[in-house]
Amino acid sequence: MKIPLRLLAIAAVAAVLSPSRLHAWGAEGHEMVNQLALSSLPADFPRWALTPANARQVVFLANEPDFLRDSKDRMMLHAATVDHDFDLEEIADAGMDVATLSPFRYEFAVQFAAARAAHVANFRPIEPQYNGNHTAGFPGFLPWTIAEYYGQLQQAFSCVKTFEKYGTPDEVAGARANALWIMAVMGHFVGDGSQPLHVSKYFYGWTGPNPKGYVSRGGWHGWIDSGAIEKAGITAAELLPRVRPAVPVSVAPRPDGRDPVFVAVVDYLKATNLQLIPLYQLEKDGPLRMGVPPTAEGRAFIDDRLLDGGEMLGSLWLTAWRHAGPDYYLQSRLLRRNAATHPAAP
Ligand SMILES: [Zn+2]
Repeated sequence: MKIPLRLLAIAAVAAVLSPSRLHAWGAEGHEMVNQLALSSLPADFPRWALTPANARQVVFLANEPDFLRDSKDRMMLHAATVDHDFDLEEIADAGMDVATLSPFRYEFAVQFAAARAAHVANFRPIEPQYNGNHTAGFPGFLPWTIAEYYGQLQQAFSCVKTFEKYGTPDEVAGARANALWIMAVMGHFVGDGSQPLHVSKYFYGWTGPNPKGYVSRGGWHGWIDSGAIEKAGITAAELLPRVRPAVPVSVAPRPDGRDPVFVAVVDYLKATNLQLIPLYQLEKDGPLRMGVPPTAEGRAFIDDRLLDGGEMLGSLWLTAWRHAGPDYYLQSRLLRRNAATHPAAP
């Protein structure tokens, strides 16, 4: 497939923008997921989001949630750090069923706290010295984070469509900038969701009984986040020809009443979790051994994770755009404002 020039330009810019980081995918990985998503979109996705300048912004802001992690503000970190992960196994450890999770974040938090307390023997004790952010009792809220950003984006697109009809050029520009910010930040979290160590309680290495002898050393998480990508020299440019087209997510009401996008996100994270054992096995067998340049097999594994993230992200963006109707409240306010500013001629 021929790679559009604008995508090559994005890749070039991203290569310059990327400092190395050790949490979530590294900066390069997150930027690649956003780049892949930008190139997964069909012709009915708005072209203004894909101009070189706006695409660069979406790629740059892929790392905005990790910029926050460097803060010392414990209240903000308490709220924000739980957004990046989902220790899927802990749902079953707490006696809950992942197929019936509430799509409402705080309802789930209350339910999980009670379930965890009732199955406390299945959890490692919370050590206060490692719980400065007061989040250790939770499995992470990544599914809710992604689904909530989806809702934000859909509403932001509704505002864009309404301002495009009734707003001033400045209002249109502001509404589009807001939507771009949400697209980018949401991309960070969808990218987290394609990394198996972000959807498992075995995030820093294997813990507990370890009959297969999987890696448990420090540095493992960072190795998959960024070390392996760096050693293998994986770039967006080489992945772009393999981008999978965005596919709209079903928004049809579900018999159980749960939000269909939330369920699609949970399914996406479950699929990523299925890659956890293969990932540990690749470390053990050699293709993704810590500190060693990945083999072709190890590289292909990382490639597929990044491509999966890009596909899911593009699919969510596309779904949000297609299902964003007019904001009727905003429309009526703008119509009143416009009528007062430019009264109809008698
Ligand atoms: Zn993250």
